[in-house]
Amino acid sequence: MTTILDVQQLFVHFSTSGKVIRAVDGIDISIKRSETLAIIGESGSGKSVLGLALLGLLPANCTVDGIVQYRGADLLTLPENELEMIRGSKIAWVPQNPAGAMNPSMTVGSQIGEPISLHVEKNRTTVRKKVLELLQFIRITPPEERIDSYPYSFSGGMLQRSLIAMGIAGLPELLIADEPTKGIDIMNKQAVSALLQILRKKGITLLVITHDLAFARNLADRIAVMYSGRIMEIRERKSFFDGPLHPYARGMLRSLPENGLHPISGRTRESDKYDGGCRFRFRCTYAIERCKVEPPLIALPEGAAVRCWLYD
Ligand code: SF4
Repeated sequence: MTTILDVQQLFVHFSTSGKVIRAVDGIDISIKRSETLAIIGESGSGKSVLGLALLGLLPANCTVDGIVQYRGADLLTLPENELEMIRGSKIAWVPQNPAGAMNPSMTVGSQIGEPISLHVEKNRTTVRKKVLELLQFIRITPPEERIDSYPYSFSGGMLQRSLIAMGIAGLPELLIADEPTKGIDIMNKQAVSALLQILRKKGITLLVITHDLAFARNLADRIAVMYSGRIMEIRERKSFFDGPLHPYARGMLRSLPENGLHPISGRTRESDKYDGGCRFRFRCTYAIERCKVEPPLIALPEGAAVRCWLYD
């Protein structure tokens, strides 16, 4: 499979109140065409900032450095007008918080139709027909009645599915979804999961950012674990869930209800307090003297990698 997006040494630093927050701190990751990669990690690990950085969606008070290679171009150095043409038509972003992400003064149908008019088809009758098809596809029915509804009349799950419809409306080849199951009930989670499964089978490349391990387990081909702005482990989905390697990843799985709900003790250290050691060592029960030096991402067979001295 060819690589569709290649991220090299990506850094995102925020300056606030005299501190430098290293939200993303040297990420290398690539996504192959038609694969589904899930980036998992707890809140504050930097995974959403990573997603926003890929498409130049971060505010001006942050510094973004590195390379985001897409079809021979580095997205980080493209002029805004060229990046605009890629957003929505080639790579689409599905934000979290669907209630806040939709415009309350526009109908859901108009919002889904916008990327179609911009990137696919200008004829208004055809755009409306395509929106109706998309509403049917995301199981918001009857579409003829729902197309002119405003976001306030939709449930959280319906809004989430509408955001996904907006994402795919411009026919992108890569869809980046940020926490698509956050804040919705179990029925709607299943509906979102089923919808993304269909897109996956249609060959759309998916980058899914989530803290929902069950969701990632059902959907992804590969799993990347983020902690404190770093990738800690990257593996094929089945191998990962059969036996995660990194102590943090093992802790994440132990904290699941089916594994006894054992939380990981301690808290993530603030990034301005890093001292050059392994970022997980103050919470790690395996820490040794050597962990005072941060390990690199150690390559393992079959494209896997783990950032832990236990595997050196
Ligand atoms: Fe634990 Fe050391 Fe591995 Fe870090 S490098 S996860 S502290 S064993």
